[in-house]
Order: sequence, then C-alpha cells, then structure tokens
Amino acid sequence: MERLSIFDIYKIGVGPSSSHTLGPWNAALQFATALWGLELQPDHVEVHLYGSLSKTGVGHATDLAVQLGLEGCDPVTVDTAEIPIRIERIRAHEQIVIHNYPIPFTPSRDIVFHNHARLEHPNTLTFKAFSDHEVLLEQTYYSLGGGFIEREGENVQELQQIQLPFPIDKGADLLRHIDQQDASVSEIVWANELRFHEYSEVKEQIDSIFRTMLECVFRGINTSGILPGGLNVKRRAAKLNKELLDGQTFDSLEEWLALVSGTSRDFTNVNKWVSCFALAVNEENAALGRVVTSPTNGAAGVIPAVMLYMYCFCDHNSIDDIERFLLTSGEIGCLFKKGATISAAVGGCQAEIGVSSAMAAGGLTEILGGSPRQVLAAAEIAMEHHLGLTCDPIGGLVQVPCIERNAMGAMKAITAAHLALATDPDDCLVNFDVVVKTMWDTAQDMNHKYKETSEGGLAFNLPVVLPSC
Ligand code: SF4
Repeated sequence: MERLSIFDIYKIGVGPSSSHTLGPWNAALQFATALWGLELQPDHVEVHLYGSLSKTGVGHATDLAVQLGLEGCDPVTVDTAEIPIRIERIRAHEQIVIHNYPIPFTPSRDIVFHNHARLEHPNTLTFKAFSDHEVLLEQTYYSLGGGFIEREGENVQELQQIQLPFPIDKGADLLRHIDQQDASVSEIVWANELRFHEYSEVKEQIDSIFRTMLECVFRGINTSGILPGGLNVKRRAAKLNKELLDGQTFDSLEEWLALVSGTSRDFTNVNKWVSCFALAVNEENAALGRVVTSPTNGAAGVIPAVMLYMYCFCDHNSIDDIERFLLTSGEIGCLFKKGATISAAVGGCQAEIGVSSAMAAGGLTEILGGSPRQVLAAAEIAMEHHLGLTCDPIGGLVQVPCIERNAMGAMKAITAAHLALATDPDDCLVNFDVVVKTMWDTAQDMNHKYKETSEGGLAFNLPVVLPSC
C-alpha cells in the first residue's frame, strides 16, 4: 500500500485541474529533465494526449500546462500573470525553450489530441523527442488525479518503503493506533509526518498551504469580471463579498478577516459566507490562478471554505487549530486515495468534491471537539451523500457545475460534522471503510460519459462550441 504524506494531498499549484493541468505539467517537467541527460539535442518534440486528457484537455488547460512544464516553469512558484505571455511567445515564435535551447514547436501541430483512451489509464500522455526524425526519447505518464503522476515502467516502490510508526491503510488502522496510543487523529498523523519531513518543515509547509489558501480566497473576493474559456461565466465572489460586508472596506487580508469574523453568525449570513469563500477559490482556479489541491484543483474550494468557517465563525483561529484541521483532513484524503480514487477520470465527481467534503467534515469535527470515531463518522456521512456524483463539466471547462459544487461540498461538510458531533458513532450503520469501498465500487460501475469526458450530463445537454476548442 502507498505511504502518503498529507503534503501529497495538499500541493500548491496552478488551476484549473490537478489531473489535467498539474499532473501533465509535472510530467512535462520530468520529461524536460530527462532530455537534459541525452547526448544529442532534440530538434523536435511532440506531446500526445489520450482519453480524458484529450477530450477535456483544452478546457482544462492541459495543452498550456505541458508547454509550461517543458519550458521548466515550476507550478509552485511561477508568476501566474506571466503564463499568457509565455504561451503567446511560444505560439507566435513557433518555438519552445527547453534548458535554454529553442526547439521548433507549433502547439496546434505538436500537441496531438487522441480521443480514444489508452488501456493503461484514462489520463495518459506520451512525450516524444526526435533528432533528425529518429526518436531520441519517449516517455509515457499517467495522471492519477490530485497532481499525482506515474511514469510507465518506473519503480514506485521507493516511497512505499518508508517505515511509518503508525502505518494506515484504512480507517480501522487509524482507529487501532488511536486506541493504542490514546491519541487524536491529528497526533497520529503528526507522528507519521515526522518520518517524511523535519518538524520545522511540517510547520512551514502547513503555514505555506494555509497562506496560499487564504491569499487565493482574498484574490477571488477582490476580482470580478468574466472567467476565461468562452463560456462567459461571471465571477460572483467579489459581488457577494461586497454585499455581505455592507459597504465596509478593507486594505489587507488581515483587515478583511477581522471584518468577516465580526459579521452576524446567523445561519443565512454564515451560509452565504461559506459559499463566497468557495466561489472565490474556484473562480481563481478557473482563471488559472494559484490554488492548493485538496485533494484536487476542481475541488480546491471546499477545504478553504470550511477552514474559514471554523476560523471566522467558530472561534477556532489559532495556528494549532489550522494545523490539526489540515493534518486530520489530509489523512482522510490519503485514505480515499489508497482505498478508492481522487481522480474524476476514474471515479467521477464523488472522487473530487465528495472526497474534499469528507476531508473537511473530518477536520472540522476534530477541531469542534469530536472524538476520533466522530471524525471518521463525519467523513463517512459527507461521502455517503456524494456517492455516484458524476463529472460533466460544460465545454470541458472547470466552471459549471464545478464552481458552485464547491460551495455545496463545503456546506455538506459542515452539516456532516455537526451531525457526527450529535451522534454516538456506535449507532452508525455505515462505517468509514465501507463508504470508501462503496465509492470505489461505484466508480467502477460508473459510465465513462460521467468521468471527466464531457460526453454526458450537463455537458451533453448544454453542448457548447468554445472559441479555443
Ligand atoms: S464536475 Fe467535479 S470532478 Fe468534474 S471537473 Fe468539475 S469539480 Fe472536477
């Protein structure tokens, strides 16, 4: 079984999709690095996209991501404002720069979309480098969701060999360690994280994830206009923020947080704020902004929305609260990755919004004082009511239904947490491991039309021809 760190689930990157943008971007970076070791300089490079990467690749910016990766841009640090400039330079000059060497590259010719899926995985891409028409290097990658990638033929054993003090493959393992150690979920996860990273690194990385999430929300509530891609979707977070603050202004993120925290805690107000936080993140994601996968980009708004609910409206705003929330929720994401999937191309939207909602529900429950069994009960409840959720993004863009779906996932997470807190976990009929298995079974039964192909559901009933396709 995989040995996963929560920082495999929480990755800082660029929107709109972890499986279709971040994964292919990282694959292109790896391929470009491998080219560095060749004796001959390539004179031609091709990228072949298969299955879901092909069908929704333009809407999910897969074509842009592979170009940025080949040019060596780091998704964690790249200036997102420079992305359109770089892409336009490649297109206009018909040249891509790999390790400072310009290579002829015409995106419309050299990025090839194959609508059939490769048998190995629905999200497959192959890179080829040529010299004088001879293939110098060919590598195939699978994008597994959440930015995870695997190269065909690579040895994936190394990471799995890390010996953790508390190996966890299932919810039952987690509860066993908790009972033996008399610990909380987050304490067990902390102990495991210290095998992957130094103590100070865990602290720093959590802080960086928290800051990136906050900054993403803040950019979202400060940006209005139309989202790119051709669907003409209007951004709504900024307008909602303005209405909710009733004309109050702010000059910084800290001031804004203080204002939000001071607004009414009645249900309607809180409900609207949670939606506003989620919309802000996913509008940024759709605009190729910087987000944190949690567990994916398409579902990146759920965790920040629930975290800000806890921060602004539940009096849990210390760094200790943030750490415990992210550790607990991150472990739940790891459990779904190990026992099922976090890829919409494999399991539909239950694998994205369903998992993020379960993660957030579990994290919130620990912070609100729930027992470890109530934490897992909350995650189970949140997933139980996302089972079978399909992925049918209109026009292949991560906008409709994706943006609003994050608000719904966040509200279900909050409901699940409060339900779990009011429940004796011994009375629950369905346990966490059963819902993970059920989600996996449902994923396997789901028609491929509903797995990020834009061939079914809303995408079928509202077909659009986008200018960029
Ligand atoms: S419908 Fe769900 S799974 Fe599909 S792209 Fe949108 S958020 Fe992701």
